[in-house]
Amino acid sequence: MINFHQAIFRAGVAIRNRQIPSHRAFLLESQWWSLEKLREWQESLLREIVQNAYEHSVFYRVKFDDSGLEPQQIKTLDDLASLPILEKNEILSERDRLQIRDGGERLFYSETSGSTGNPLVFYRNADWDAWHNASVMRGYEWHGVRPWERNGYLWGFNFSPSQRLKTRALDALQNRFRMFSYDDDEIASFAGKLRHAVYLGGYSSMIYEIAKAINRNPRIEPLTNLKLIRGTSEKIFERYQQEAVQAFGRRIVSEYGAAESGIIAFECPEGSMHVNMETCIVEVENGEILVTNLVSRSFPIIRYRLGDSIVLDREMKCACGRAHPVIREVTGRIGKRIVGKSRSFPSLTLYYVFKNLARKHDLVLNYQGVQEQAGVLRLDIEEKVSSETRVLLLGECEAYYGKDVDVEIRESCNLRSQGRKKRDFVSSIDDGVS
Ligand SMILES: [Zn+2]
Repeated sequence: MINFHQAIFRAGVAIRNRQIPSHRAFLLESQWWSLEKLREWQESLLREIVQNAYEHSVFYRVKFDDSGLEPQQIKTLDDLASLPILEKNEILSERDRLQIRDGGERLFYSETSGSTGNPLVFYRNADWDAWHNASVMRGYEWHGVRPWERNGYLWGFNFSPSQRLKTRALDALQNRFRMFSYDDDEIASFAGKLRHAVYLGGYSSMIYEIAKAINRNPRIEPLTNLKLIRGTSEKIFERYQQEAVQAFGRRIVSEYGAAESGIIAFECPEGSMHVNMETCIVEVENGEILVTNLVSRSFPIIRYRLGDSIVLDREMKCACGRAHPVIREVTGRIGKRIVGKSRSFPSLTLYYVFKNLARKHDLVLNYQGVQEQAGVLRLDIEEKVSSETRVLLLGECEAYYGKDVDVEIRESCNLRSQGRKKRDFVSSIDDGVS
């Protein structure tokens, strides 16, 4: 017997992408393959993706030609190291020459915040989209969760009243609910709904905030019903885990990936983050991850420097029985907070401040938030900032931070001089999270 939400889910999958069920079935089988068999699978996809990139993407053709490489020379996983590295700024500036549109497959729109807040827009082909969705589903299933089960969702809350209505309606269809602000009432209501949910997912810094709110409120009992707390996009600090265990009786499970790379690793019930070998290759160079997306035919991602430092363990034999190597640590991305005079804010709010500025006023600025003292936020802007723009930007900041943060704007800043890795927010304040 299938229930209502399962039926809705299946209908949704049928409309979105019919390849998801077969890819899911494949992954549920391949998860028990030997390392040798998994590597053979990777090699065959690697040859395909390199050949395809060379033939159809102007960007890769020039890049390979410049380095004197023929795609046919790439036969094994070891050969991969002879290919040039792909940098984040290349993806942004060369997007149109990278994108392949004539693959004959339906394309799915994808947007990600990119570096220093410049959004990256690209298109995923249907097969890639299916692998991505199937990989997420497999991760859920490791924890006894099916995607149509009731879930709380913590993502950005940049919504106008009409967007809220639309979002609520779409969420209801997907059997999920979310928070629209950090108000105490909203948190209490969210926690109440969580009591009838099966899983919770979203930004780990937001999961941490919910857990803290539950733990600090004597009227809210700890929750024991959630089977999975899934943290994405941000580093999961041990401090977060302590609050999660107290609030939900379990640790936050980490999903590691990016829109361009797809799922790179998912944590198993034994607590190991297994590399999603079926869809990507992970290399480590000087402690930094280089990821190759094996299914991204429409927007080839080959030896991509994602900007995270990781520790990869190829030797470990996980008790769950899966042979996929384990990522022990991701130290690159840090979900720091903007510290105000009386409270603090997720640094992600900064992304929305600039996104709003772009959406409402067509002002796209390259920025970096810098905090060296509590209550003061400095915005370093690459462009010149007119007095009108300054007023609009301060207005957007006030909408999020009120009078709690004094904002200083600096114009004509060189944001590239601070090393290769760019973050949209850097802080030297110890906000108590370690
Ligand atoms: Zn495992």
